[in-house]
Amino acid sequence: MPVLQLVPILSGPVGGLVEPLGRRLATVFGMPVEVAATPIDVEVAYDGVRGQYNSRSLLAQLLAHAPKAATRILGLTGVDLYVPVLTFVFGEAELDGRAALVSSFLLDNELYGLPADGALLFERLVKEAVHELGHTFGLVHCHRDTCVMTSSTYVEGIDLKSVEFCDRCLRAVRQKRARLGA
Ligand SMILES: [Zn+2]
Ligand SMILES: [Zn+2]
Repeated sequence: MPVLQLVPILSGPVGGLVEPLGRRLATVFGMPVEVAATPIDVEVAYDGVRGQYNSRSLLAQLLAHAPKAATRILGLTGVDLYVPVLTFVFGEAELDGRAALVSSFLLDNELYGLPADGALLFERLVKEAVHELGHTFGLVHCHRDTCVMTSSTYVEGIDLKSVEFCDRCLRAVRQKRARLGA
């Protein structure tokens, strides 16, 4: 039975969103979700000059700790992530692999001097989690209007896309899901 494992990493204020996010992801991907208390060492990923956390390093740790039974692993964090070639990222994933990572850091209205909006933060987090997990199902970026696999550079772009896969992406996810077993 395929299982999606959710791993909170120094989750801070998003800690309360883990369970509701898990329920949404279970519905979207048709897989049971379990929350795991995997010990991830965030200090190893921290770059003191940038004041940010290397998402590659966190992904590598997620994979190193992943039990065989976890078909897909999603790390959920609230820290400021980067990949070496980019200044910031909402998340990262292995294309057609097992692990993905998403952060709420850039999704919080308060970072932009706007009033806190918990419902909006949650919707953004769901979209980015579905997007990153979509990559682990082999999906590349999609150019169809509101498809969740559209690439978003800024948080406004996340608000413009929907939480849904377009028909073509959804078909690909379902095919992949079927190959992972019942
Ligand atoms: Zn992407
Ligand atoms: Zn699409």
